[in-house]
Amino acid sequence: MSCYVMKFGGSSVADAKKLYAAARKLAEVHRQGHQVVGVLSAQGGTTDALLSRAREIDPDCSGRELDMLLATGEQCTVSLCAMALRRLGMPAVSLCGWQAGLKTEDRHGDARVLCLENDRVKRELEAGKIVLVAGFQGVDCHGDITTLGRGGSDTTAVALAAFLHADRCRIYTDVDGVYDRDPRKFSDAVKFPEISYNEMLVLARSGAKVLHDRCVELAKQYGVEVEVLSSFRELPGTLVHG
Ligand code: ADP
Ligand code: ASP
Ligand code: MG
Repeated sequence: MSCYVMKFGGSSVADAKKLYAAARKLAEVHRQGHQVVGVLSAQGGTTDALLSRAREIDPDCSGRELDMLLATGEQCTVSLCAMALRRLGMPAVSLCGWQAGLKTEDRHGDARVLCLENDRVKRELEAGKIVLVAGFQGVDCHGDITTLGRGGSDTTAVALAAFLHADRCRIYTDVDGVYDRDPRKFSDAVKFPEISYNEMLVLARSGAKVLHDRCVELAKQYGVEVEVLSSFRELPGTLVHG
């Protein structure tokens, strides 16, 4: 039995129809006999909307209370996806970052992931469930919720793949792989069938938000191979590896 970590970004879970499509992809891999961890982002636009609400109250908001608020976006998505999976007849459980035991530094807004401090995800997988983990968040040594920086759900996926020794880490997004330039802005952008960690780091650090730069750093550190794939089209993606 292999363990798959499958991450879906905000535009891939933006509405009920897309959320069901993501749930079906998770269910399909589970039906093939694999353990499945789904890492989900907040539904498209949700994090920005939460930020605007916070700034209406306090234009300078930051730190602990902002992280408390922003983490709710991902919490909504995982619970909705667990409901969808149950409707599809699949056993599923949703977990916030702290329930999954994703320990981070005690730094708000862009905390680094440290380790997995409990075996909850493993136990749920062994009980046969699809485990849905809220991306972008963890818990610090004070028991407070932290967030990992914008785009940080990619990092949650790679961290879980590393700590669970997963066999596959798939990042499903709204483009069908990593290109030499943003394919939404440049129609002649060229897709990489594969790319090294170092080349991907250069792209991510120069602002190609298709992968969060911390996720690439972690993937390199732990030797996690990352497949970047389209949520919407069955096409070969890009393999990020050593
Ligand atoms: P998600 O919500 O799935 O995390 P993001 O919006 O964070 O997705 O990242 C995907 C977006 O990254 C694409 O829609 C694309 O416009 C952008 N992008 C920028 N540079 C690149 C690149 N070099 N290759 C692929 N996509 C890129
Ligand atoms: N929801 C967070 C963001 O919008 C994290 C993510 O989507 O990866 O930045
Ligand atoms: Mg992203």
